[in-house]
Amino acid sequence: MKYQTTLNDNRQQCLICPRECKLKDNQCGFCFVREDINGEIKLKTYGYNTGLAIDPIEKKPLYHFYPMSKVLSFGTNGCIMGCQFCQNDNITKVKPNYNFLNETSPEMLVNIALDYNCKGIAFTYNDPIAFFEYTIDTAKLCKVNGLKTVAVTSGYINPEPAKEFFEYIDAVNIDLKGFSEDFYKKNCLAHLEPVLDTIKYVKQNTNCHLELTTLLIEQENDFDYMLEQECDWIIENLGNNVPLHFSAFFPRYKFKDRKPTSQKTLMRAYDIAVNKGINYVYTGNIPDIKTSSTFCKNCGKPLIVRLGYNISEYNLIDNKCKYCLTELDGKF
Ligand code: SF4
Repeated sequence: MKYQTTLNDNRQQCLICPRECKLKDNQCGFCFVREDINGEIKLKTYGYNTGLAIDPIEKKPLYHFYPMSKVLSFGTNGCIMGCQFCQNDNITKVKPNYNFLNETSPEMLVNIALDYNCKGIAFTYNDPIAFFEYTIDTAKLCKVNGLKTVAVTSGYINPEPAKEFFEYIDAVNIDLKGFSEDFYKKNCLAHLEPVLDTIKYVKQNTNCHLELTTLLIEQENDFDYMLEQECDWIIENLGNNVPLHFSAFFPRYKFKDRKPTSQKTLMRAYDIAVNKGINYVYTGNIPDIKTSSTFCKNCGKPLIVRLGYNISEYNLIDNKCKYCLTELDGKF
């Protein structure tokens, strides 16, 4: 594996994500899918999936990237994060059981996407940084075959692999899990700064389309001051045109005793972000037409009216508002 180094004591250090695990022979990293095998760190889940589905791109969520198109979603086992509230713990927190996994080479995945007329492939369900090598190989094949590539990720990646990763990814939704180092440390067993660095890198140095999602957990990351700080950071570092999704949490994994996020909390977060000046703010996992829809940042008219994953109005001419001809940020 390209992103590894040998330490003085002969252990191998993985350099894909900021954990930089130091591995003895036959030892797996924190993600439990990378293992040191005779001095070579290998991805044990390469070519295996825990399930495939054809999804509307809105489900990722990506609201400003070819709306209404279909993507083939792929995921496998393992994760680089330690989120105690993980919403997909049935795949991220269990070790690969090869009796139940399906084999899919990059070629097979691309052929399925083409056969079903998908716009592209989404690396999702678990974090594609956990299956970096497979993502890159498949994404390269997508390029040759005219398919778009989408990643849904924590953004917890080191700067060097990030350069390679985002060279081949066309659109990304990065989870900004909470605007506090304490929250990341306690609830994700990770750090905030590397995530912010990745977000800045994508926006400032790549052509990859960027959207952000914050899963709101009451009394953990939904405090007004935290949401205000998050919005201030976004505006200062990314401008005010990056779509921001606030989505509802459901009790899962180690947070089974918590309450699901209320509509009131989502609306409060929505109002804070809109009042701060972010142009495209959305709520997710809860049906609400107004806060799921896209409005023109100039004339305020509805451009894309959504409820759930359905679109009931589409008022764009190419990428422009049909009323005032202002461009809508994103790819359409
Ligand atoms: S990718 Fe896995 S093995 Fe590598 S540093 Fe991150 S958690 Fe450790």
